[in-house]
Amino acid sequence: MYLCDIHSHSQISPDCDVPLADMARAAIAAGLREFCVSDHHDLLDYDGLPAAPFCWPAAKEQYRAVKDSLGDRLTLRLGLELGSAPYDPETARAALAQGGEELDFVLGSLHNWIGFHNNDLLDMTSYQGNEPLARRAMESTLEHTWTLVTQMPDCYDSLAHVSYPLRYIRKDGVSLSMEDYEERVRAIFTEVARTGHALEANVWAGRDLDSWPLLLGWFKQCGGELVTVGADAHRPEDVGRGIPQALELVKAAGFGYVATYERRRPVLHKL
Ligand SMILES: [Zn+2]
Ligand SMILES: [Zn+2]
Repeated sequence: MYLCDIHSHSQISPDCDVPLADMARAAIAAGLREFCVSDHHDLLDYDGLPAAPFCWPAAKEQYRAVKDSLGDRLTLRLGLELGSAPYDPETARAALAQGGEELDFVLGSLHNWIGFHNNDLLDMTSYQGNEPLARRAMESTLEHTWTLVTQMPDCYDSLAHVSYPLRYIRKDGVSLSMEDYEERVRAIFTEVARTGHALEANVWAGRDLDSWPLLLGWFKQCGGELVTVGADAHRPEDVGRGIPQALELVKAAGFGYVATYERRRPVLHKL
């Protein structure tokens, strides 16, 4: 099994203070063959305000230094987790253009409640006892994900953690599931597949393995072929966590390969 974790953060992200060198060391210790740093560039910050431009010079400097130090011990890639691209397509495209040839991989994600308060979806006081609010959060996420996959296919390679709001909705005891949105999720997956993009099985450092059998099954039925896996680590001990199980889930869903990306093109590895 080709152990790869292509969703991970470093000190370039606002919610992580770990140098990439430490994350890469953890990747080697976890037995990974390939690792991609995908720092956050959310077009809206945690408080719902337009974010500062991504600091490409610092990201590239860090990436080059660590890559040079690794030799052949680990394949290291440079990625970006581009959040809320539909909020400001022009800025999103400018950020990707600045990544240039060196940019290997783009995760398309949505953390913010665009058009409501624009805050991060986890930054609600509580979804507890408030199913209507939880439903609105899910519907907003699906609406903007639809915009991303239909109008901005150039702004992502793999669709990141499509069930993101459920992390926090479930923590607050509201029992929503992706099955409540099957038709809309299948429409999104059909578009992801049709345009040759990937779906990410994001295991959230081993905390979310349960979402993926259902979602990967739908993606397969919708014609999906490309799947990426990520632990979404923000600290060294989470690098690669849940990845062996994720690869088993991808295989069990009927996929023969896991994808990694080089210069924004998929590379397939047999499962
Ligand atoms: Zn994310
Ligand atoms: Zn992330």
